[in-house]
Amino acid sequence: MFICKNPDHLHYRLQLLRDTGASLGFVPTMGALHAGHLSLIARCREECTASIVSVFVNPRQFNNANDLKNYPRPVVRDIELVTQSQTDVLFIPEVEAMYPPVDSYQLDFDPGPLDAVMEGVFRPGHFQGVADVVYRLLRMVAPDRLYLGQKDFQQVAIIRKLIRDTGLNVQVVVCPTLREPHGLAMSSRNVLLSAAARERAGLIYAQLLLGKEKFDAGIDISNIRESMIAAFRGAGFEPEYAEVINGDTLQAAEGSEHYVVACCAVSVEGVRLIDNMVWKET
Ligand code: AMP
Repeated sequence: MFICKNPDHLHYRLQLLRDTGASLGFVPTMGALHAGHLSLIARCREECTASIVSVFVNPRQFNNANDLKNYPRPVVRDIELVTQSQTDVLFIPEVEAMYPPVDSYQLDFDPGPLDAVMEGVFRPGHFQGVADVVYRLLRMVAPDRLYLGQKDFQQVAIIRKLIRDTGLNVQVVVCPTLREPHGLAMSSRNVLLSAAARERAGLIYAQLLLGKEKFDAGIDISNIRESMIAAFRGAGFEPEYAEVINGDTLQAAEGSEHYVVACCAVSVEGVRLIDNMVWKET
């Protein structure tokens, strides 16, 4: 595996791979890798002849200084895991390399209504930061395929729009959410939870499952949302939102849409956890 720390070195390595006719698959991450990340890398390796993983904690997508400071950064372990995954190239830049003073990656992108709901409301500026870094990474790597997790459902919608609006030529592959034994969606932030809370946070998935059962039984969406919020509060969690949305537009669903997704954000022991589940796709 080649480890590249700056975009010029990356460019050189990738050109050598492209010259061999390789198709390039790319998995962007913020590190603190877990089995969810590794499942994206495995899929990428299956479907592409060369795989590139990036590890970069992007300061521009954090709207909370403490969250950025506390974000786990086990760099040595990450390098070990990526090496074991038989990735071809690991890109692990410093902040200065991604955001140099003279910058050729100015992005003019408006996520529009996709950013006016859920994470966009509770984390203002977050998706602008995500779009900024993903655009840079896509320009630097120029992959044929981009591997993203369903876990960050709104992020996928916004990156798809970014790719359409900027005319980038890359196919998006969305991979299913991997979960811990009690149902909690795997996340780099889970290590910040106590063992007991990590287990209790399985309630988020349980509520998404229960909500789906009620939705299938024809129960009114606003009732379902209210009981989810009440269940989270009852467990001592702090829910930010539990939305049921049209999966294409991300706006509130009535239920008759073809594609309905439930999304929630809940703080447990001060750790912000997000999850989602497709309730209908016809
Ligand atoms: P992150 O490092 O959190 O920015 O995540 C990097 C990529 O891994 C994103 O596309 C995430 O959606 C994806 N991802 C995060 N958690 C999971 C999970 N539990 N299962 C599958 N993919 C995930």
